Amino acid sequence: MQDVILIRYGELNTKGKNRKLFIDRLEGNIKKKLSHYQNIDIRSHRDRMYLNFKDYDVNEIMNELKDVFGIQSFSLAKKVSKEYQVIEDAIMEIIDFSKYQTFKVITKRGDKSYPMISDEINRKIASRILKETDLKVDVHHYQLGINIDIRQDASAYIFFEKINGAGGYPVGISGKGLLMLSGGIDSPVAGYLAMKRGVKVECIHFASPPYTSAKALNKVLQLASKYLAYTDEVVLYNVSFTQMQLAINKYCDASYSMTILRRMMYRIAQGIIKEKNIEVIINGESIAQVASQTLQSMVVINEVTNVPIIRPCACLDKLEIIDLAKKINTYELSILPYEDCCTIFLPSNPVTHPHLDKVIKNEKRFDYDKEVQECINKVETIIINKNTINDILNIDDDLF
Ligand code: ATP
Ligand code: MG
Repeated sequence: MQDVILIRYGELNTKGKNRKLFIDRLEGNIKKKLSHYQNIDIRSHRDRMYLNFKDYDVNEIMNELKDVFGIQSFSLAKKVSKEYQVIEDAIMEIIDFSKYQTFKVITKRGDKSYPMISDEINRKIASRILKETDLKVDVHHYQLGINIDIRQDASAYIFFEKINGAGGYPVGISGKGLLMLSGGIDSPVAGYLAMKRGVKVECIHFASPPYTSAKALNKVLQLASKYLAYTDEVVLYNVSFTQMQLAINKYCDASYSMTILRRMMYRIAQGIIKEKNIEVIINGESIAQVASQTLQSMVVINEVTNVPIIRPCACLDKLEIIDLAKKINTYELSILPYEDCCTIFLPSNPVTHPHLDKVIKNEKRFDYDKEVQECINKVETIIINKNTINDILNIDDDLF
């Protein structure tokens, strides 16, 4: 009898011939996530994976699996050989019946040539339990569900509990997105939701030192490092945005400065995307949350690029976003009161219905192409992974 973790796939089941790609990616992601354990062996099959481990605290391993996207659920199971008597005896041996009053036996046969049908197995095992213990059968409200999976290979698996996985698709299967990561509440949630759909997220952050501080950048790096729960590495492109902001401040009408600032962000993000082979931009915009996020503003700001912009929070209420931020442990960091480039030089009356012709007139007042290119040329690439995280989070004011 051997302990194994049985892993069930999420939506992968519906993916037809892409299934193998999905399973390989999921297996790779699980291996990376558990790379600090030796002696972990994963066997992938078309509808599930088996994870064999030795000498480790299984609860610790299962805790790490909870954050791997693409896993629908998992169970700690006992693997036994599939002769009926072996299964029955194993069940009588491993269960502490004194803990329960009611039970149900649920058998599934992957092996249709097995000499007994599921119902017969259920009844036979139930009758032994009824004979040898005080438990009663309750098929609707049982305390103890005894699941038996009889597989095509030589094994059967016995398990009692299904633990929910993170769902979604394995990170990386859906390509790459560039997340505009601020220090706010929304963008970390947007990145998480995109990752859940299998997108490998890289981050771009716009900082305007000395108007934005080292502490503000450190907070953003800490937020990005939260993604290490879901992926092995996070790349963050830190854009020095000061000169651009000063130029906008100097040459553009105050009421249009936010609209233009955000158009510049998209232009720079688009430049990085082309260089780094990334497919889409992701951000934390939410319809009508602020002046730059009215639908009219989005139209005018979006006009600078034909790169698809994914806005996972677009239709969520702030309270829904906050709930997710709490769930992924970014909320407490996000509410730290450090400045963002969008909050410095903030106009008192930003337009909510900007006109494209006015925007273009404003932008003609300075050579923004040159500034955009400067920002792209000078971008600093920060790679956050298990080996670099401590050094990176110790970055202090010398950075500037
Ligand atoms: P909040 O939770 O306070 O709304 P926010 O980060 O969503 O914070 P917004 O002003 O709503 O702030 O900005 C909208 C989106 O623009 C952000 O979700 C983020 O994707 C992007 N953004 C804003 N500031 C920056 C920045 N400094 N660097 C990168 N992206 C930014
Ligand atoms: Mg926001």
